[in-house]
Amino acid sequence: MSLIVQKFGGTSVGTVDRLKRVAQRVARTRSEGHDVVVVVSAMGHATDQLVELMGQITLKAPGREVDMLLSTGEQVSIALVAAALGELGVSARSMLGFQAGIETEKAHTRAAIRTIETARLRGLLAEGVIPVVAGFQGITADGEVTTLGRGGSDTTAVALAAALSADICDIYTDVEGVYTTDPRIVPEARLLREISYEEMLELASLGAKVLHPRSVEYARWKNLVLRVRSSFSDHPGTVVKGVDQLEILNPVNGVTADLNQAKLAVLGVPDQPGVAARLFANLAERGINVDVISQSVHGGHLTNDVAFTVAFDDMGPAREICEALAAEIGAMGVVADGTVAKVSIVGAGMINHPGTAAQMFEALGGAGINIQMISTSEIKVSCVIDRARALEAIAVVHRRFALDKEQQPVVLSR
Ligand code: ADP
Ligand code: ASP
Ligand code: MG
Repeated sequence: MSLIVQKFGGTSVGTVDRLKRVAQRVARTRSEGHDVVVVVSAMGHATDQLVELMGQITLKAPGREVDMLLSTGEQVSIALVAAALGELGVSARSMLGFQAGIETEKAHTRAAIRTIETARLRGLLAEGVIPVVAGFQGITADGEVTTLGRGGSDTTAVALAAALSADICDIYTDVEGVYTTDPRIVPEARLLREISYEEMLELASLGAKVLHPRSVEYARWKNLVLRVRSSFSDHPGTVVKGVDQLEILNPVNGVTADLNQAKLAVLGVPDQPGVAARLFANLAERGINVDVISQSVHGGHLTNDVAFTVAFDDMGPAREICEALAAEIGAMGVVADGTVAKVSIVGAGMINHPGTAAQMFEALGGAGINIQMISTSEIKVSCVIDRARALEAIAVVHRRFALDKEQQPVVLSR
């Protein structure tokens, strides 16, 4: 008998019929002799509707009130799923995040889980009761309700699986698993049988919303086997596991785009030591994450242009910081552009395959898509481009690497 954590996303519990099917799947797993902990998201677009509702009151709601509101979405679905299990004769109990012992840091709307006190969950399991836990929420040490960031129910599931030393964590969603790119954008996208934590973390952080990035970090940290599967079929889905456990290593395993990006540039920065350090320290102090950075030197002039990207929502504050520093150091000016996107390729085999980046640039160039900035790591290449061309960029890059076909595996020279 094993312990399985099963997480069901919003679409999977989006209607009464679907919710009943979720209960049937959980009941089936239980009847096969496994212990099950269920984690559910809010029904359908409930969270979006709550965000919109608050927007009708204010666009500057305190994080505490946002969390109080958004956490109600999951309260609805846990009660319904637990009751649906009861109807099938399966003993289940709905649990809010705090009842499941999930303690987070005090960072409203984006809290990280600190600890999970599992005694209550273990007690229920010992009694043969299935806990149905609200995803996406927790409580601070001083009793404030928090949420984990949009898409955070995946993280609840993986964190619970890790804390309970579960054998496996299954993430049930509305596609059959992890694909080479979003199958809703590129219909030829190919379902991956497996992917490494490292690649999945890059894909998730670079815009593929199929898994919450922090859930992948947790799984990697605890070496927990994570499966992404469809709640509408019995397809085995995609297994996420360590690079050294992969059977196949591809130079490129996926393409993704992050549309929520903005580019800033400080022009004519005096070429002196310490200026970049000041700029990025000021941004960090305001909690702004900087991503792709490039610096261009003007031949003959003693100035640089320093450009970087941030999340679109951070563009306003980042611009203020740049303008203040530009005035202080005598830079020429600041440009902010909120119409960019970042397109990335990810693959654990890239490191052994020279020319991968060049192929991506060719694909974009061939389609007349201008590359504004580039950043690379051992397993990814990202290009900042015009947001209006992002979906087309995904498609041409996907085609250039023939990702719709099984790839030639790369032999690791380790
Ligand atoms: P859930 O509500 O189950 O958490 P999400 O909407 O958060 O589901 O994530 C699933 C969606 O992620 C899919 O419907 C798909 O459009 C999108 N997606 C983006 N990139 C990928 C990818 N590489 N593989 C699979 N799905 C992807
Ligand atoms: N309901 C939350 C959201 O829509 C959490 C989740 O679905 O994972 O972001
Ligand atoms: Mg999700």
